[in-house]
Amino acid sequence: MSVKRKCPECGTWNENGEDRCKVCNKALAPELIIREGHAQRALHREQAPASSFEQFVEKVKNSPNPIVRSTYFAVYAVWAIYMGILAFFLWLIAWLPG
Ligand SMILES: [Zn+2]
Repeated sequence: MSVKRKCPECGTWNENGEDRCKVCNKALAPELIIREGHAQRALHREQAPASSFEQFVEKVKNSPNPIVRSTYFAVYAVWAIYMGILAFFLWLIAWLPG
């Protein structure tokens, strides 16, 4: 018993249940489609350029200028303290009765 699979790419009917379209080589088997989908997504993630903010942070972190580097760590420390205070207040609100 053979499965007929219609190619979503070029519309060709593959009569013998081929895993790939005989015309355009598009994946037709469900497990192949899933695997190629994952592969393409992984590739896309690798090719995606870092956002301008990430690039900026990397540049500041690796700056040869010690003032720029210490500014980065000062900002980072302030942010960490701010998040700590925020977490404390959320904890406080959560414990308030009512
Ligand atoms: Zn095809």
